[in-house]
Amino acid sequence: MSMLTVDHLTKRYHNTAVVDAVSFALEERTSTALIGPNGAGKTTTLSMLTGLLNPTSGKIELSGINGDPRKYIGFLPQYPQFFSWMTAMEYMEMAARLSGVDAKSARLESQKTLEFVGLGEALKKKTGTFSGGMRQRLGLAQAIVHKPKLLLLDEPVSALDPVGRREIMNLLKDLQSETTILYSTHILNDAEEMTDQLLFLRKGKLVEQGSLADVKEKYENPRFRVEFSSTEAAAAFAANNSWEAVNEGPIAFIPRN
Ligand code: ADP
Repeated sequence: MSMLTVDHLTKRYHNTAVVDAVSFALEERTSTALIGPNGAGKTTTLSMLTGLLNPTSGKIELSGINGDPRKYIGFLPQYPQFFSWMTAMEYMEMAARLSGVDAKSARLESQKTLEFVGLGEALKKKTGTFSGGMRQRLGLAQAIVHKPKLLLLDEPVSALDPVGRREIMNLLKDLQSETTILYSTHILNDAEEMTDQLLFLRKGKLVEQGSLADVKEKYENPRFRVEFSSTEAAAAFAANNSWEAVNEGPIAFIPRN
């Protein structure tokens, strides 16, 4: 069953559509990557889905959700912000209450979630002392403390080094069996392992969608062309190396080092 259906979702600024008639559906308990280069419209799309931004037009339908959406949606912004003088636990309890966790359970749920994301030793540390990787874990913790049915993540691993990236992707994999996940990235590799569906966004338009196998098949089958910014990029795609989306072609990638 579809958990979320998006129909012709559009956001315009000064008459320019930065998200342009985007339609897709997320099936329950699947993972979807929203892939596109900088400026493609990923953050704008996620912001509309979380309710932070009003669409200019189009429809967003959540099914199987009755009542308060904040209880069902978890969101990790691209640059999570914390009050530096709060401890991780203080921050988490506040976040849990904001997401509709009742006062009795907020403490225990906060602690359990911090342990799950690997911050069990840092419960009493002030968030101002946290490293980038710890901030990303704390951001993920606040997004999942209320066990959301739909988890939206804006570039959850882009700012991390390869080890941190792997650790966060492993946590997301653990959540996959309970949660519908939509996350954005400009790096196709991040999508590979755990992702059921890929959505390619370019200049606000959804230019391609399907599984990774579908996309590879289109690349290999000349009836459908996936364009690359260079022959090097095409070779990297074929060799299953690292690719990064760039602002060229319908779906364009460059190899990453
Ligand atoms: P991405 O997350 O893929 O990098 P964004 O959704 O942040 O892309 O931005 C998509 C486009 O919309 C960009 O060209 C950006 O400059 C433009 N944009 C985003 N927010 C605003 C705004 N508040 N006013 C005008 N233009 C905006």
